[in-house]
Amino acid sequence: MKYYGALEAGGTKMVLAIMDENGKILQKSTIPTKAPDETMPEMLAFFSARPISALGIGGFGPLNLDQGSADYGCIMETPKLPWRHYPLLPVFREKLGVPVGLDTDVNAAALAEARLGAAKGKESCLYVTVGTGIGGGVIIHGKPVHGLMHPEIGHISVSPAPDDPMPRGVCPYHPHCLEGLASGPSIEKRWGVSARELPEHHPAWEIESAYLAQLCAGAMLTFSPEMIILGGGVMQRKFLLPMIRQKTVSLLNGYIAHPAVDDGLNHYIVAPGLDTQSGITGAYLLAREAEQRGGNRRG
Ligand code: ADP
Ligand code: ZN
Repeated sequence: MKYYGALEAGGTKMVLAIMDENGKILQKSTIPTKAPDETMPEMLAFFSARPISALGIGGFGPLNLDQGSADYGCIMETPKLPWRHYPLLPVFREKLGVPVGLDTDVNAAALAEARLGAAKGKESCLYVTVGTGIGGGVIIHGKPVHGLMHPEIGHISVSPAPDDPMPRGVCPYHPHCLEGLASGPSIEKRWGVSARELPEHHPAWEIESAYLAQLCAGAMLTFSPEMIILGGGVMQRKFLLPMIRQKTVSLLNGYIAHPAVDDGLNHYIVAPGLDTQSGITGAYLLAREAEQRGGNRRG
């Protein structure tokens, strides 16, 4: 029996798992993300308890994924100050002595959805999480896209909705970016009620779906993924998905017609096939890839 470590490293919590070679979760643990000197020893203890063959990490970012850089595998500028510039991959590699695969949390989730989830069998997809932040992982030709760094799709500019009572978003960098206007915290700030508690027929959802539709239409027009998968806490409100589809259709206004895309985008803009397990499953796939390479590079 072989064992693999999988880590979904988030800004608020760390999800750790040991999986077998079939991807079955044998052990799972969730711990709050505190400072590295507290959280790293806990994680290292978890992964040291069994002889893992490799570790895969889907991490919050931004991350340095440039293999030519001396800082490869380090966290970059993050508002989570104790983790700023933390050498995440190098520390795990040194302490565990196994190959370590690393990618962004959303690239890991996108990879899992493309290999095993909603987009199984497709060569490309976009996975978006709408939660505390908004992030997206892009798969093209079966692999996560790393360009200059990695996509930061949550920070694209969107047109403020005409009836938005808070047309300036909560992002400290951009007044009109998607994350600033449509993340969970932005909904809560705008309406004074959490996204979990806002009633279904509240005007909040017209505005929310209008912003997310701008992302979907924009993605279709820029890199044309074969499927768009929307996950994260806010998307737990199931009535949102049809609203987003309908507004995306309106924005596109008939411009994109393809036999593989139904008129209402019902099979094109979808919920994750792996439910809430996309991230940890993606981390497992990164571990498998790292083992195959025998090195410590990204997938
Ligand atoms: P994170 O992004 O921190 O990894 P989540 O995806 O759960 O975690 O995102 C948290 C945000 O999503 C919070 O702003 C919260 O209000 C919102 N959220 C979480 N669960 C739900 C839910 N069931 N319905 C609506 N909003 C939710
Ligand atoms: Zn922004």
